[in-house]
Amino acid sequence: MRAYDATPNALMWWYETGTPDVTLGLRMRLLHHERTPYQLLEIYEHPFFGRVLVLDGNLQVTQRDEFIYHEMLTHVPLLGALPKTLQEASVLIIGGGDGGTLREVLRHNWVRRVVMVEIDPVVIQRCQEFLGFHGNYQDPRVTLHITDAARYVARPEVQAQPFDAILVDSTDPVGPGEVLFTPEFIRNAYACLKPTGVFARHLCMPLFDGPILREGVARLRQVFPTVEVYQATIFTYVGAQMAFVVCTKDGHSAKKPQRLWTGRYYNPDVHRAAFALPTWWHTELIAN
Ligand code: SAM
Repeated sequence: MRAYDATPNALMWWYETGTPDVTLGLRMRLLHHERTPYQLLEIYEHPFFGRVLVLDGNLQVTQRDEFIYHEMLTHVPLLGALPKTLQEASVLIIGGGDGGTLREVLRHNWVRRVVMVEIDPVVIQRCQEFLGFHGNYQDPRVTLHITDAARYVARPEVQAQPFDAILVDSTDPVGPGEVLFTPEFIRNAYACLKPTGVFARHLCMPLFDGPILREGVARLRQVFPTVEVYQATIFTYVGAQMAFVVCTKDGHSAKKPQRLWTGRYYNPDVHRAAFALPTWWHTELIAN
């Protein structure tokens, strides 16, 4: 049952529908729901986690713990892979409609150009209205494009002005996000990077989505010479331990921070430790 079938404004149990046979239940109140041209968008309020964005039944972010995901998606690649001498970095954010990744990218004053490509303008609007943790879209460094990012990275004029970093902050490989996991998308993203560029994304929750990590890494290895997996623990994603991947075009490693910087979750120790992975990830999911 969806919350809008129940008494308006009542606290009710919501269950994540994205993972078969296992679920996360949160007792919360529905604030808003609408079907956008791309997905079913719901915003809830939870007594502990605060406002919660759900797309097509999958929890995307909560106000309480979003900083973990956004800091780890952003700062590990930017601080681990870009040379500390780089003074004018350019970053392409793909997806990220809640604005959390934009907020984190803009924290670095050496990032001089940010392009964000989100397919669904309704996510951006509603997240600004209801969640409020987004980065500043008015910052002169920022350009926003509303389009399918798979098409965007295929454009010759985009590839002609390559980026230092591409951060894919997308939904899982279902619905509009599916295209962002294809070999063609990866090849085009690679073509949109400078020779020393870095690419990062999440690859879901290995406990339940092992094949997504296995297949995702295998596809990236076909294109990038170095593909390094790291992890962070995020309670509100079913499976708790999330896999991320960072890939460099020239093969250098992102495991050590090049610049020292501290956020609310991220710090240089967390950066290094994030690359320590459970044995079964190595042997069963990401072995060469
Ligand atoms: N932290 C999140 C999670 O749970 O994986 C990701 C959050 S962010 C809201 C994901 C965004 O990716 C959504 O706003 C969605 O509209 C966007 N998106 C999905 N497919 C896309 C595509 N093909 N091009 C651009 N943006 C896309």
